[in-house]
Amino acid sequence: MRILVCVKHVPDLQSNRGFTPERRVRRTAEDGTMNEVDENAVEAALQLVAGAGAPGGAHQVIALTLGPDEAADALRRALQMGADRAVHLLDDAFAGSDYFGTAAALAAGVRHVAAQGEVDLVLTGMAALDGLGSVVPALLSAELDWPQLTVAAHLELADGHLVARRELDGVTETLRAPLPVVVGVTDLINTPRFPKFKDIMAARSKEIETLTAADLGLDPASVGASGARTRVLRAEPRPPRPEPELVTDDDGSGGRALADYLIRHDLI
Ligand SMILES: Cc1cc2nc3c(=O)[nH]c(=O)nc-3n(C[C@H](O)[C@H](O)[C@H](O)COP(=O)(O)OP(=O)(O)OC[C@H]3O[C@@H](n4cnc5c(N)ncnc54)[C@H](O)[C@@H]3O)c2cc1C
Repeated sequence: MRILVCVKHVPDLQSNRGFTPERRVRRTAEDGTMNEVDENAVEAALQLVAGAGAPGGAHQVIALTLGPDEAADALRRALQMGADRAVHLLDDAFAGSDYFGTAAALAAGVRHVAAQGEVDLVLTGMAALDGLGSVVPALLSAELDWPQLTVAAHLELADGHLVARRELDGVTETLRAPLPVVVGVTDLINTPRFPKFKDIMAARSKEIETLTAADLGLDPASVGASGARTRVLRAEPRPPRPEPELVTDDDGSGGRALADYLIRHDLI
């Protein structure tokens, strides 16, 4: 069993996030991290592979990312968690990829790995914390012409199929799809392991393969900003929320102050 896990490197939510002059998310800040729910996807892959047999050899977890140099940190994290190897789609030509370009490049990465040996499953997070598109996994399954299971909170293999449980509002759904399949997971699926010192050391000797657009047989003009079908017109941080106005009633004037506030803001 070979599982590819798409891991995205995103700016840390606590960091000083921002945009470049081209209205792109600044991705070269020092505070980057693996998209949180992608850690759940890595954990799910490791558990599925462990259930299928001893990891390594025929049973492999391979982390895949598309992003600038810094995105290698997300791959390293996946390797520290126990992934066997990693693939980095790295090329200036990819900069400015929209959702379609991202999915096309990731699909080319999947095909590249599948040419070296069958891939049974592509796992993704359900959404990336920076872009929050939640569309890349669906576009990826369309690119690959594979079925897709979404919002999976539990996964198991049965008779060459993947069975996914989804926890929806008031409903638990169980779905089944034949392999190969693309699956997006939620953070309910597991608690990602925390790499130990020996795992961190072991990850140092694991391979990160770097692939350019040309390596993937993609025309550089068809990817990145030049191939994008959508354009970001504006991107600017929202102004900070105004300080809340506190109304006290210590002297009995609270009711009037509240009514004044509501009138001033055209709320009554
Ligand atoms: C017009 C346009 C221009 C853009 N320009 C840029 C740009 O210049 N630079 C830039 O970095 N972004 C750019 N973006 C954003 C970029 O397209 C998205 O970040 C990317 O498509 C992923 O979308 P998302 O973050 O909404 O992912 P989602 O669809 O929310 O991600 C879901 C899951 O898909 C997987 N995934 C998503 N992206 C990746 C990835 N890169 N590698 C591995 N796995 C992944 C992860 O498992 C993730 O959990 C642009 C977007 C648009 C629309």
